Amino acid sequence: MYKKSFFLIMLLVAFVTLPCAAESVEGLPLHVQKIEPGVVRVWVGDHVSSTAVSAIATKKGIVVIDTTNIPKLDEAFRKIIARELGRGDFKYLINTHGHVDHVSGNGVYADCQIIAHENVKGMMEEMFQDIPRRSEWNTGYIKEQREQLASGKIAAEKKAGTEEQLAISTLINEYLQSSPKPTFPTKTFRDKLVLDCGDVTFELYQAGGTHTPSDIFILVPQKGLLLTGDMMADKWLSDTPGCLATFAVRTGSAEDYPVLVKNWQALIERKDEIKQYVPGHWNGELSFEGFLARFNYLKALLSDIEALAKAGGDFNQFMTGYTLKDKFPALVGSPGITIQGHQMSLQHLYQVYSGKISLSGELQGSFGSDAFTAKFAALRADLLKNRDKYFYSEADLTGLGYFLLQQLKKVDDAIAMFELYVQLFPQSWNAYDSLAEGWYTKGDKKKALELYQKSLELNPANENGKKFVAQIEKELNN
Ligand SMILES: [Zn+2]
Repeated sequence: MYKKSFFLIMLLVAFVTLPCAAESVEGLPLHVQKIEPGVVRVWVGDHVSSTAVSAIATKKGIVVIDTTNIPKLDEAFRKIIARELGRGDFKYLINTHGHVDHVSGNGVYADCQIIAHENVKGMMEEMFQDIPRRSEWNTGYIKEQREQLASGKIAAEKKAGTEEQLAISTLINEYLQSSPKPTFPTKTFRDKLVLDCGDVTFELYQAGGTHTPSDIFILVPQKGLLLTGDMMADKWLSDTPGCLATFAVRTGSAEDYPVLVKNWQALIERKDEIKQYVPGHWNGELSFEGFLARFNYLKALLSDIEALAKAGGDFNQFMTGYTLKDKFPALVGSPGITIQGHQMSLQHLYQVYSGKISLSGELQGSFGSDAFTAKFAALRADLLKNRDKYFYSEADLTGLGYFLLQQLKKVDDAIAMFELYVQLFPQSWNAYDSLAEGWYTKGDKKKALELYQKSLELNPANENGKKFVAQIEKELNN
């Protein structure tokens, strides 16, 4: 009995360790998944959320979906796909969206027709202009990671992931520093495109508005596949979800949403044709239930906020009652669904449907720059004069203020933001509490004390306020 189970264990160990002997690309472990005959999925790494490239053999040739952010990898992938499918007649490349980690290797398929949503090109142009900044950031990041690894301070369970990230970042940087040129899509579409490849059809549906303005769903009915790009996953296979980390409405326009709903609805109605949902990164999985739940959530958000904007209702009041916990309890804690993402969705949609200018949206991009203080002062003055023109929430003002105070360490800017918070919400105990913290950080304890006391007048149950009042009184008496 003992011997038999020992033998079984040895056999198991032998099988379990087999994938370790698999091939590698640039020292990184490579994975090939055969989804079904004529369909393969390839990616690198065991930890980092890297792009999974899919390839499907058709009568007209091989159709590849997505490239990575390292063309060198795509060159290796192309060879592996050809080997796995037993042919080399590459015909089409389809990009699921315009993010760098889905289009940077397009040049490897320059001999193919490259198909994508019409918004992909603009995203690629922006991203290529941004290469010097990305390279600089990446260089700093690599240096930091190397130092951390050398210091031995990284926890044992994080070491392998950090080493993998370092190897991938190094390859990305090599590419960024090689003066790369973009290879744009050669055929684009807006709402829907059908690609007939003889025995296999590819139905491409516009689905922008959550992840980027260029996302598409790709339905391959003959293979029972729906490729969903980076829009969503309802299970993460590694602890770095990467692009799949947030499902939120954040990039579309009022014209895009009806198309997104229509296309998504059409795919739900064809659920019997879909055997497998394929996210754009290897470490995400998606079920029909997850796909449906996210659709119902999006649909509810769109119609409820459109109705609110039309009725001229109070957004802040609406948002207070429209929580994930109360309205969508089944989605609480589901991968990619967060309170912040939910609030981002509500705010973005309200802005789209009300036509008002978002305070936080206006400031985006100027944080950390020298121009911020002046820009914010002008915005604040205009906002206080024309309150109806703008749209803001308590969550916005708190978030912006604490971002300035804690992340950017811009105490004066944070105080100015919290002052505006108090001006716009004079009955908010949290506004006074936040402004108090600003002054306390700056070192004006007397002012901080007065503000904490005001906050406690409005909300005697403010525990943070009580704690600070006791602490400041003690400090002032010393
Ligand atoms: Zn993405």
